[in-house]
Amino acid sequence: MMNTVSIRFTDKYELKEQIGHGAFAIVKRCVQKATGIEFAVKMIRKHLSGKDPQKIENEGRICRKLQHPNIVKLHDIIQDENFLYLVFELVTGGELFEDIVERKHYSEVEASHCIQQILESLHHCHVNGVIHRDIKPDNLLLGSKAPGAAVKLADFGLAIEVQDQTRAWYGFAGTPGYLSPEMLKKEPYGNAVDIWASGVILYILLVGYPPFYNENQQKLNNQIKAGVYNYPSPEWDTITPEAKNLINKMLTLNPTKRITAEEALKHPWISQRERVASVIHRQDTLNGLKVFNARRKLKGAVLTTMLVTSNFQTKGESGSQVKESIATLKDLDSKENKTKEAISKLSDDLQLNHPVKKTFQNLESETIRKQEVIHVTKLLINDITFGKDQHDFEHYVQLCAPHSTAFEPEAPGNLIQGTEFYKFYFQNKLTSNYKVVNNVILNPHVHLLGEDAACIAYTRLTQFTDQHGQLHIQQSEETRVWQHKDSRWQHVHFHRSDRPPLTMGPK
Ligand code: ADP
Ligand code: MG
Repeated sequence: MMNTVSIRFTDKYELKEQIGHGAFAIVKRCVQKATGIEFAVKMIRKHLSGKDPQKIENEGRICRKLQHPNIVKLHDIIQDENFLYLVFELVTGGELFEDIVERKHYSEVEASHCIQQILESLHHCHVNGVIHRDIKPDNLLLGSKAPGAAVKLADFGLAIEVQDQTRAWYGFAGTPGYLSPEMLKKEPYGNAVDIWASGVILYILLVGYPPFYNENQQKLNNQIKAGVYNYPSPEWDTITPEAKNLINKMLTLNPTKRITAEEALKHPWISQRERVASVIHRQDTLNGLKVFNARRKLKGAVLTTMLVTSNFQTKGESGSQVKESIATLKDLDSKENKTKEAISKLSDDLQLNHPVKKTFQNLESETIRKQEVIHVTKLLINDITFGKDQHDFEHYVQLCAPHSTAFEPEAPGNLIQGTEFYKFYFQNKLTSNYKVVNNVILNPHVHLLGEDAACIAYTRLTQFTDQHGQLHIQQSEETRVWQHKDSRWQHVHFHRSDRPPLTMGPK
Protein backbone atom coordinates (compact mmCIF):
# COMPACT_ATOMS: atom_id res chain seq x y z
CA MET A 1 0.00 0.00 0.00
CA MET A 2 1.93 2.99 -1.23
CA ASN A 3 0.18 6.31 -1.15
CA THR A 4 1.66 9.13 -3.05
CA VAL A 5 -1.30 11.52 -3.19
CA SER A 6 -3.89 13.25 -1.06
CA ILE A 7 -3.74 11.20 2.12
CA ARG A 8 -2.58 13.16 5.11
CA PHE A 9 0.09 11.43 7.12
CA THR A 10 -1.67 12.29 10.37
CA ASP A 11 -4.86 10.60 9.17
CA LYS A 12 -3.09 7.27 9.19
CA TYR A 13 -0.33 7.62 11.77
CA GLU A 14 0.18 9.18 15.15
CA LEU A 15 3.56 10.86 15.49
CA LYS A 16 5.67 10.05 18.57
CA GLU A 17 9.13 11.06 19.81
CA GLN A 18 12.13 11.75 17.63
CA ILE A 19 14.51 8.81 17.34
CA GLY A 20 17.11 10.06 14.92
CA HIS A 21 18.17 12.75 12.53
CA GLY A 22 20.54 13.38 9.70
CA ALA A 23 21.49 16.40 7.64
CA PHE A 24 18.17 16.75 5.84
CA ALA A 25 15.67 14.57 7.66
CA ILE A 26 14.15 13.90 11.05
CA VAL A 27 13.19 10.38 12.04
CA LYS A 28 10.33 9.87 14.50
CA ARG A 29 8.54 6.88 15.94
CA CYS A 30 4.94 6.65 14.83
CA VAL A 31 1.96 4.36 15.35
CA GLN A 32 -0.36 3.22 12.59
CA LYS A 33 -3.83 4.20 13.83
CA ALA A 34 -5.68 1.28 12.25
CA THR A 35 -3.42 -1.44 13.65
CA GLY A 36 -1.44 0.01 16.56
CA ILE A 37 1.76 -1.18 14.86
CA GLU A 38 4.84 0.99 15.42
CA PHE A 39 6.97 2.33 12.58
CA ALA A 40 9.79 4.79 12.03
CA VAL A 41 8.96 7.73 9.78
CA LYS A 42 11.66 9.66 8.00
CA MET A 43 10.31 13.16 7.40
CA ILE A 44 12.04 14.96 4.56
CA ARG A 45 11.28 18.65 4.05
CA LYS A 46 10.48 19.01 0.40
CA HIS A 47 11.48 22.56 -0.33
CA LEU A 48 14.30 23.11 2.08
CA SER A 49 16.36 20.02 1.67
CA GLY A 50 18.77 21.65 -0.74
CA LYS A 51 18.16 18.77 -3.11
CA ASP A 52 16.08 18.93 -6.22
CA PRO A 53 12.60 17.34 -6.02
CA GLN A 54 13.50 14.41 -8.27
CA LYS A 55 16.30 13.41 -5.96
CA ILE A 56 13.98 13.58 -2.97
CA GLU A 57 11.74 10.96 -4.51
CA ASN A 58 14.75 8.81 -5.29
CA GLU A 59 15.05 7.39 -1.81
CA GLY A 60 11.47 6.12 -1.65
CA ARG A 61 11.62 4.61 -5.12
CA ILE A 62 14.88 2.81 -4.36
CA CYS A 63 13.82 1.52 -0.94
CA ARG A 64 10.62 0.14 -2.42
CA LYS A 65 12.70 -2.10 -4.73
CA LEU A 66 14.77 -3.57 -1.93
CA GLN A 67 13.49 -6.33 0.29
CA HIS A 68 16.10 -8.09 2.33
CA PRO A 69 16.51 -9.17 5.98
CA ASN A 70 19.58 -6.92 6.28
CA ILE A 71 17.96 -3.79 4.85
CA VAL A 72 15.50 -1.57 6.74
CA LYS A 73 12.17 -2.25 5.07
CA LEU A 74 10.05 0.52 3.58
CA HIS A 75 6.37 0.20 4.44
CA ASP A 76 4.62 3.29 3.07
CA ILE A 77 5.19 6.61 1.32
CA ILE A 78 3.02 9.67 1.89
CA GLN A 79 3.52 13.26 0.87
CA ASP A 80 1.94 16.60 1.58
CA GLU A 81 2.89 20.12 0.54
CA ASN A 82 5.79 20.31 2.96
CA PHE A 83 6.99 16.83 3.70
CA LEU A 84 7.73 13.51 2.19
CA TYR A 85 7.07 10.77 4.76
CA LEU A 86 8.95 7.53 4.31
CA VAL A 87 7.48 4.98 6.72
CA PHE A 88 9.96 2.23 7.62
CA GLU A 89 9.86 -0.82 9.84
CA LEU A 90 10.92 0.35 13.30
CA VAL A 91 14.27 -1.10 14.24
CA THR A 92 14.94 -0.96 17.95
CA GLY A 93 18.52 -2.17 18.40
CA GLY A 94 20.15 1.23 17.82
CA GLU A 95 23.43 1.62 15.97
CA LEU A 96 25.61 -1.45 15.47
CA PHE A 97 28.75 0.36 16.70
CA GLU A 98 27.01 1.52 19.90
CA ASP A 99 25.94 -2.03 20.62
CA ILE A 100 29.36 -3.57 20.04
CA VAL A 101 31.06 -1.44 22.70
CA GLU A 102 28.59 -2.78 25.30
CA ARG A 103 29.47 -6.40 24.60
CA LYS A 104 31.27 -8.59 27.13
CA HIS A 105 32.94 -10.67 24.46
CA TYR A 106 34.11 -9.39 21.08
CA SER A 107 36.42 -11.14 18.64
CA GLU A 108 37.13 -11.57 14.93
CA VAL A 109 34.20 -13.99 14.81
CA GLU A 110 31.74 -11.23 15.75
CA ALA A 111 33.39 -8.78 13.33
CA SER A 112 33.16 -11.39 10.56
CA HIS A 113 29.47 -11.91 11.27
CA CYS A 114 28.82 -8.12 11.08
CA ILE A 115 30.64 -7.65 7.81
CA GLN A 116 28.92 -10.71 6.34
CA GLN A 117 25.52 -9.13 6.95
CA ILE A 118 26.69 -5.82 5.48
CA LEU A 119 27.96 -7.69 2.41
CA GLU A 120 24.67 -9.60 2.12
CA SER A 121 22.76 -6.31 2.10
CA LEU A 122 25.12 -4.83 -0.50
CA HIS A 123 24.94 -7.93 -2.67
CA HIS A 124 21.17 -7.49 -2.72
CA CYS A 125 21.54 -3.79 -3.62
CA HIS A 126 24.08 -4.43 -6.34
CA VAL A 127 22.14 -7.20 -8.11
CA ASN A 128 19.16 -4.84 -8.08
CA GLY A 129 21.16 -2.06 -9.71
CA VAL A 130 21.42 0.10 -6.58
CA ILE A 131 24.61 1.70 -5.25
CA HIS A 132 24.21 2.89 -1.64
CA ARG A 133 27.11 5.41 -1.67
CA ASP A 134 26.92 6.21 2.06
CA ILE A 135 28.09 3.09 3.90
CA LYS A 136 29.22 4.28 7.34
CA PRO A 137 28.54 3.38 11.00
CA ASP A 138 25.63 5.85 11.39
CA ASN A 139 23.70 3.93 8.76
CA LEU A 140 24.26 0.45 10.20
CA LEU A 141 21.46 -0.35 12.65
CA LEU A 142 20.45 -3.44 14.61
CA GLY A 143 17.02 -5.05 14.25
CA SER A 144 16.47 -5.38 17.98
CA LYS A 145 18.22 -5.41 21.35
CA ALA A 146 18.23 -9.22 21.42
CA PRO A 147 21.65 -10.90 21.21
CA GLY A 148 22.40 -11.88 17.62
CA ALA A 149 19.89 -9.38 16.15
CA ALA A 150 20.31 -8.73 12.43
CA VAL A 151 22.37 -5.82 11.12
CA LYS A 152 20.13 -3.54 9.06
CA LEU A 153 21.41 -1.17 6.41
CA ALA A 154 19.53 2.18 6.46
CA ASP A 155 19.58 5.57 4.76
CA PHE A 156 19.32 5.33 1.00
CA GLY A 157 19.34 9.14 0.81
CA LEU A 158 22.44 9.14 -1.40
CA ALA A 159 21.70 5.89 -3.22
CA ILE A 160 21.40 5.74 -7.00
CA GLU A 161 19.95 3.34 -9.52
CA VAL A 162 22.19 2.26 -12.35
CA GLN A 163 21.09 0.64 -15.59
CA ASP A 164 23.86 -1.86 -16.15
CA GLN A 165 27.16 -2.68 -14.54
CA THR A 166 29.22 -0.22 -16.60
CA ARG A 167 30.88 2.36 -14.47
CA ALA A 168 30.12 6.06 -14.93
CA TRP A 169 30.37 9.39 -13.17
CA TYR A 170 27.14 9.79 -11.19
CA GLY A 171 28.28 12.81 -9.21
CA PHE A 172 30.16 13.28 -6.00
CA ALA A 173 28.57 11.73 -2.92
CA GLY A 174 29.50 10.14 0.38
CA THR A 175 31.14 10.87 3.70
CA PRO A 176 34.81 11.80 4.25
CA GLY A 177 36.83 8.85 5.52
CA TYR A 178 34.62 6.37 3.67
CA LEU A 179 35.01 7.85 0.18
CA SER A 180 36.69 5.60 -2.37
CA PRO A 181 39.82 6.67 -4.29
CA GLU A 182 37.96 6.60 -7.63
CA MET A 183 35.26 8.94 -6.23
CA LEU A 184 37.92 11.33 -4.95
CA LYS A 185 39.67 11.24 -8.31
CA LYS A 186 36.33 12.02 -10.01
CA GLU A 187 36.64 8.88 -12.13
CA PRO A 188 33.79 6.70 -13.37
CA TYR A 189 32.63 4.46 -10.53
CA GLY A 190 30.22 1.67 -9.67
CA ASN A 191 29.31 -0.87 -6.99
CA ALA A 192 32.93 -1.03 -5.88
CA VAL A 193 32.57 2.27 -3.94
CA ASP A 194 30.33 0.45 -1.43
CA ILE A 195 32.89 -2.34 -1.05
CA TRP A 196 35.64 0.20 -0.35
CA ALA A 197 33.55 1.81 2.40
CA SER A 198 32.81 -1.63 3.84
CA GLY A 199 36.54 -2.32 3.86
CA VAL A 200 36.99 0.82 5.97
CA ILE A 201 34.24 -0.45 8.29
CA LEU A 202 35.90 -3.87 8.55
CA TYR A 203 39.24 -2.29 9.47
CA ILE A 204 37.54 -0.25 12.23
CA LEU A 205 35.60 -3.31 13.45
CA LEU A 206 38.88 -5.13 14.00
CA VAL A 207 40.98 -2.51 15.82
CA GLY A 208 38.68 0.37 16.78
CA TYR A 209 40.31 3.10 14.68
CA PRO A 210 40.10 3.92 10.98
CA PRO A 211 42.62 3.03 8.25
CA PHE A 212 42.67 6.60 6.94
CA TYR A 213 42.44 9.55 9.24
CA ASN A 214 43.41 13.19 9.23
CA GLU A 215 41.49 16.17 10.59
CA ASN A 216 42.62 17.99 7.49
CA GLN A 217 40.30 16.87 4.73
CA GLN A 218 42.79 17.50 1.96
CA LYS A 219 45.38 15.30 3.64
CA LEU A 220 42.78 12.64 4.34
CA ASN A 221 41.78 12.59 0.67
CA ASN A 222 45.40 12.31 -0.39
CA GLN A 223 45.93 9.32 1.89
CA ILE A 224 42.90 7.61 0.40
CA LYS A 225 43.85 8.40 -3.19
CA ALA A 226 47.27 6.91 -2.54
CA GLY A 227 45.54 3.94 -0.91
CA VAL A 228 48.19 3.90 1.79
CA TYR A 229 47.22 2.28 5.06
CA ASN A 230 48.99 -0.24 7.24
CA TYR A 231 48.65 -2.72 10.06
CA PRO A 232 50.60 -1.32 13.02
CA SER A 233 51.88 -3.41 15.93
CA PRO A 234 50.94 -4.68 18.40
CA GLU A 235 47.19 -4.79 17.78
CA TRP A 236 47.44 -6.15 14.22
CA ASP A 237 49.90 -8.91 15.26
CA THR A 238 47.01 -10.85 16.78
CA ILE A 239 44.72 -10.45 13.74
CA THR A 240 44.59 -13.52 11.48
CA PRO A 241 46.24 -13.30 8.02
CA GLU A 242 42.87 -14.21 6.47
CA ALA A 243 41.24 -11.09 7.96
CA LYS A 244 44.04 -8.91 6.59
CA ASN A 245 43.73 -10.67 3.26
CA LEU A 246 40.05 -9.75 3.03
CA ILE A 247 40.76 -6.11 3.96
CA ASN A 248 43.46 -5.97 1.29
CA LYS A 249 40.95 -7.21 -1.28
CA MET A 250 38.27 -4.72 -0.18
CA LEU A 251 40.68 -1.77 0.05
CA THR A 252 42.22 -2.44 -3.36
CA LEU A 253 42.98 0.84 -5.07
CA ASN A 254 41.91 -0.25 -8.54
CA PRO A 255 38.10 -0.62 -8.48
CA THR A 256 38.10 -3.18 -11.30
CA LYS A 257 40.42 -5.42 -9.25
CA ARG A 258 38.55 -4.88 -5.96
CA ILE A 259 36.62 -7.86 -4.58
CA THR A 260 32.84 -7.81 -5.21
CA ALA A 261 30.18 -8.44 -2.55
CA GLU A 262 29.45 -11.86 -4.01
CA GLU A 263 33.13 -12.87 -3.98
CA ALA A 264 33.71 -11.45 -0.51
CA LEU A 265 30.86 -13.56 0.86
CA LYS A 266 32.80 -16.62 -0.32
CA HIS A 267 36.05 -15.50 1.31
CA PRO A 268 37.17 -18.10 3.91
CA TRP A 269 37.26 -15.50 6.74
CA ILE A 270 33.50 -15.09 6.16
CA SER A 271 32.25 -18.38 4.75
CA GLN A 272 34.39 -20.61 7.01
CA ARG A 273 34.37 -18.30 10.02
CA GLU A 274 34.24 -21.11 12.61
CA ARG A 275 37.47 -22.57 11.30
CA VAL A 276 39.33 -19.41 10.23
CA ALA A 277 38.43 -16.37 12.34
CA SER A 278 40.02 -15.91 15.76
CA VAL A 279 37.92 -16.13 18.94
CA ILE A 280 40.37 -14.09 21.08
CA HIS A 281 38.58 -11.32 22.99
CA ARG A 282 39.75 -7.88 21.81
CA GLN A 283 39.31 -5.45 24.71
CA ASP A 284 41.60 -2.83 23.09
CA THR A 285 39.34 -2.78 20.06
CA LEU A 286 36.31 -2.11 22.28
CA ASN A 287 38.19 0.70 24.04
CA GLY A 288 39.21 2.20 20.70
CA LEU A 289 35.64 1.93 19.40
CA LYS A 290 34.34 3.83 22.43
CA VAL A 291 36.61 6.72 21.56
CA PHE A 292 35.68 6.44 17.90
CA ASN A 293 31.94 6.56 18.74
CA ALA A 294 32.36 9.50 21.13
CA ARG A 295 33.92 11.50 18.37
CA ARG A 296 31.20 10.64 15.84
CA LYS A 297 28.53 11.65 18.35
CA LEU A 298 30.24 14.92 19.12
CA LYS A 299 30.29 15.86 15.46
CA GLY A 300 26.63 14.91 15.26
CA ALA A 301 25.81 17.04 18.29
CA VAL A 302 27.28 20.15 16.72
CA LEU A 303 25.11 19.57 13.70
CA THR A 304 21.92 19.16 15.76
CA THR A 305 22.58 22.33 17.68
CA MET A 306 22.99 24.25 14.48
CA LEU A 307 19.80 22.92 12.97
CA VAL A 308 17.82 23.57 16.14
CA THR A 309 19.13 27.12 16.22
CA SER A 310 18.17 27.65 12.62
CA ASN A 311 14.61 26.38 13.26
CA PHE A 312 14.42 28.81 16.10
CA GLN A 313 15.47 31.83 14.15
CA THR A 314 13.57 31.31 10.94
CA LYS A 315 9.91 31.08 11.86
CA GLY A 316 8.68 32.03 8.45
CA GLU A 317 11.64 30.15 7.12
CA SER A 318 12.66 30.21 3.54
CA GLY A 319 14.94 27.80 1.78
CA SER A 320 17.72 30.31 1.50
CA GLN A 321 17.84 30.86 5.25
CA VAL A 322 18.25 27.21 5.97
CA LYS A 323 20.86 26.92 3.27
CA GLU A 324 22.60 29.84 4.89
CA SER A 325 22.73 28.10 8.23
CA ILE A 326 24.12 25.02 6.56
CA ALA A 327 26.72 27.25 4.94
CA THR A 328 27.56 28.69 8.38
CA LEU A 329 27.97 25.16 9.59
CA LYS A 330 30.48 24.38 6.87
CA ASP A 331 32.22 27.63 7.63
CA LEU A 332 32.51 26.71 11.31
CA ASP A 333 33.78 23.32 10.33
CA SER A 334 36.50 24.77 8.18
CA LYS A 335 37.54 27.19 10.93
CA GLU A 336 37.76 24.34 13.36
CA ASN A 337 39.73 22.40 10.80
CA LYS A 338 42.25 25.19 10.48
CA THR A 339 43.14 25.10 14.17
CA LYS A 340 43.23 21.35 14.08
CA GLU A 341 45.43 21.51 11.02
CA ALA A 342 48.09 23.16 13.14
CA ILE A 343 47.81 20.39 15.71
CA SER A 344 47.96 17.65 13.13
CA LYS A 345 50.97 19.27 11.46
CA LEU A 346 52.72 19.24 14.78
CA SER A 347 51.81 15.64 15.46
CA ASP A 348 52.71 14.68 11.88
CA ASP A 349 56.23 15.82 12.60
CA LEU A 350 56.30 13.83 15.80
CA GLN A 351 54.83 10.69 14.29
CA LEU A 352 56.93 7.72 15.17
CA ASN A 353 55.21 4.51 14.22
CA HIS A 354 51.81 5.08 12.69
CA PRO A 355 50.75 8.54 11.57
CA VAL A 356 47.07 7.89 11.13
CA LYS A 357 46.64 6.22 14.48
CA LYS A 358 48.65 8.80 16.40
CA THR A 359 46.90 11.84 14.96
CA PHE A 360 43.57 10.23 15.57
CA GLN A 361 44.25 9.29 19.16
CA ASN A 362 45.81 12.62 20.17
CA LEU A 363 42.78 14.51 18.96
CA GLU A 364 40.48 11.93 20.46
CA SER A 365 41.81 12.30 23.97
CA GLU A 366 41.34 16.09 23.77
CA THR A 367 37.79 15.65 22.60
CA ILE A 368 37.06 13.27 25.43
CA ARG A 369 38.58 15.53 28.09
CA LYS A 370 36.46 18.41 26.84
CA GLN A 371 33.37 16.24 27.07
CA GLU A 372 34.30 15.26 30.61
CA VAL A 373 34.58 18.90 31.65
CA ILE A 374 31.16 19.67 30.21
CA HIS A 375 29.80 16.61 31.98
CA VAL A 376 31.13 17.49 35.46
CA THR A 377 29.88 21.07 34.99
CA LYS A 378 26.40 19.74 34.25
CA LEU A 379 26.56 17.51 37.34
CA LEU A 380 27.50 20.49 39.48
CA ILE A 381 24.70 22.64 38.11
CA ASN A 382 22.24 19.83 38.69
CA ASP A 383 23.29 19.69 42.32
CA ILE A 384 22.76 23.43 42.72
CA THR A 385 19.58 23.99 40.83
CA PHE A 386 17.33 21.01 40.90
CA GLY A 387 14.59 21.98 43.33
CA LYS A 388 13.65 20.97 46.79
CA ASP A 389 14.30 17.27 46.88
CA GLN A 390 17.00 16.93 44.35
CA HIS A 391 19.67 19.43 45.24
CA ASP A 392 22.52 17.76 46.96
CA PHE A 393 25.07 19.62 49.05
CA GLU A 394 27.07 16.48 49.83
CA HIS A 395 27.49 15.64 46.18
CA TYR A 396 28.30 19.25 45.35
CA VAL A 397 31.10 19.32 47.92
CA GLN A 398 32.60 16.18 46.44
CA LEU A 399 32.96 17.89 43.10
CA CYS A 400 34.81 20.87 44.62
CA ALA A 401 38.44 21.25 45.69
CA PRO A 402 38.53 22.08 49.47
CA HIS A 403 39.71 25.65 48.95
CA SER A 404 37.81 26.46 45.82
CA THR A 405 37.03 30.13 45.28
CA ALA A 406 34.23 32.09 43.65
CA PHE A 407 32.87 35.48 42.70
CA GLU A 408 29.11 35.33 43.22
CA PRO A 409 26.40 37.90 42.56
CA GLU A 410 25.17 37.09 46.10
CA ALA A 411 28.38 38.48 47.57
CA PRO A 412 29.20 41.38 45.27
CA GLY A 413 32.87 42.27 45.11
CA ASN A 414 33.95 39.60 47.58
CA LEU A 415 35.94 36.51 46.85
CA ILE A 416 34.40 33.52 48.56
CA GLN A 417 36.58 30.64 49.65
CA GLY A 418 35.57 27.09 50.54
CA THR A 419 32.17 25.49 50.33
CA GLU A 420 30.69 26.55 53.71
CA PHE A 421 29.08 29.64 52.17
CA TYR A 422 26.93 27.38 50.05
CA LYS A 423 25.61 25.30 52.90
CA PHE A 424 23.37 28.21 53.81
CA TYR A 425 22.40 28.62 50.20
CA PHE A 426 21.47 24.96 49.88
CA GLN A 427 19.57 24.87 53.17
CA ASN A 428 17.60 28.07 52.72
CA LYS A 429 17.28 29.46 49.28
CA LEU A 430 16.84 26.13 47.59
CA THR A 431 14.39 24.77 50.13
CA SER A 432 12.03 27.69 49.61
CA ASN A 433 9.20 27.42 47.17
CA TYR A 434 11.22 27.87 44.05
CA LYS A 435 10.97 24.96 41.72
CA VAL A 436 13.37 24.58 38.86
CA VAL A 437 11.61 23.37 35.76
CA ASN A 438 14.38 23.44 33.25
CA ASN A 439 18.07 24.14 33.20
CA VAL A 440 20.30 24.33 30.17
CA ILE A 441 23.84 25.38 29.44
CA LEU A 442 24.35 27.09 26.11
CA ASN A 443 27.46 27.29 23.97
CA PRO A 444 29.86 25.66 26.41
CA HIS A 445 33.45 26.43 25.43
CA VAL A 446 36.19 24.39 27.02
CA HIS A 447 39.81 25.52 27.04
CA LEU A 448 42.21 22.77 27.98
CA LEU A 449 45.00 24.21 30.11
CA GLY A 450 47.78 21.68 29.79
CA GLU A 451 47.23 18.08 30.77
CA ASP A 452 45.33 18.48 34.01
CA ALA A 453 43.28 21.68 34.02
CA ALA A 454 40.50 23.22 32.02
CA CYS A 455 38.37 26.32 31.92
CA ILE A 456 34.76 26.27 30.77
CA ALA A 457 32.68 29.30 29.80
CA TYR A 458 28.97 29.14 29.01
CA THR A 459 25.59 30.78 29.42
CA ARG A 460 23.13 29.16 31.77
CA LEU A 461 19.37 29.48 31.39
CA THR A 462 17.20 28.37 34.30
CA GLN A 463 13.41 28.32 34.23
CA PHE A 464 11.78 28.18 37.65
CA THR A 465 8.41 28.78 39.26
CA ASP A 466 7.95 30.77 42.47
CA GLN A 467 5.53 30.08 45.36
CA HIS A 468 2.68 31.54 43.30
CA GLY A 469 3.39 29.27 40.40
CA GLN A 470 4.68 32.13 38.31
CA LEU A 471 7.35 31.23 35.76
CA HIS A 472 10.69 33.07 35.76
CA ILE A 473 13.78 32.76 33.61
CA GLN A 474 17.19 33.40 35.04
CA GLN A 475 20.14 33.89 32.73
CA SER A 476 23.71 33.94 33.95
CA GLU A 477 27.14 33.92 32.41
CA GLU A 478 29.55 31.60 34.12
CA THR A 479 33.21 30.71 33.96
CA ARG A 480 34.48 27.69 35.87
CA VAL A 481 37.99 26.37 36.32
CA TRP A 482 38.50 22.65 36.84
CA GLN A 483 41.59 20.74 37.87
CA HIS A 484 42.20 17.06 37.26
CA LYS A 485 43.65 15.79 40.52
CA ASP A 486 43.66 12.42 42.28
CA SER A 487 42.16 10.99 39.09
CA ARG A 488 39.01 13.12 39.14
CA TRP A 489 37.91 16.59 38.07
CA GLN A 490 37.74 19.10 40.95
CA HIS A 491 36.12 22.47 40.75
CA VAL A 492 38.64 25.16 41.82
CA HIS A 493 37.15 28.53 40.87
CA PHE A 494 34.16 30.15 39.25
CA HIS A 495 32.81 33.54 38.33
CA ARG A 496 29.15 34.16 37.72
CA SER A 497 27.17 37.20 36.65
CA ASP A 498 23.39 37.23 36.64
CA ARG A 499 21.05 39.16 34.46
CA PRO A 500 17.81 40.46 35.98
CA PRO A 501 15.21 37.67 35.86
CA LEU A 502 12.54 37.71 33.25
CA THR A 503 8.99 36.96 34.37
CA MET A 504 6.78 35.07 31.99
CA GLY A 505 3.14 34.17 31.73
CA PRO A 506 -0.26 35.69 32.38
CA LYS A 507 -0.17 36.08 36.17
P1 ADP B 1 19.70 10.88 7.07
O1 ADP B 1 19.58 10.64 5.61
O2 ADP B 1 19.18 12.24 7.45
O3 ADP B 1 21.06 10.55 7.64
P2 ADP B 1 18.76 8.33 8.13
O4 ADP B 1 17.88 7.55 7.23
O5 ADP B 1 20.18 7.88 8.24
O6 ADP B 1 18.66 9.88 7.76
O7 ADP B 1 18.12 8.34 9.58
C1 ADP B 1 18.71 9.09 10.60
C2 ADP B 1 18.78 8.28 11.87
O8 ADP B 1 17.48 7.89 12.28
C3 ADP B 1 19.55 6.98 11.75
O9 ADP B 1 20.95 7.16 11.92
C4 ADP B 1 18.93 6.14 12.85
O10 ADP B 1 19.50 6.48 14.10
C5 ADP B 1 17.48 6.59 12.85
N1 ADP B 1 16.66 5.69 12.02
C6 ADP B 1 16.55 5.71 10.68
N2 ADP B 1 15.72 4.75 10.24
C7 ADP B 1 15.29 4.09 11.33
C8 ADP B 1 14.38 2.97 11.55
N3 ADP B 1 13.79 2.35 10.53
N4 ADP B 1 14.17 2.58 12.83
C9 ADP B 1 14.79 3.21 13.85
N5 ADP B 1 15.64 4.24 13.72
C10 ADP B 1 15.89 4.70 12.48
MG1 MG C 1 22.10 8.69 7.89
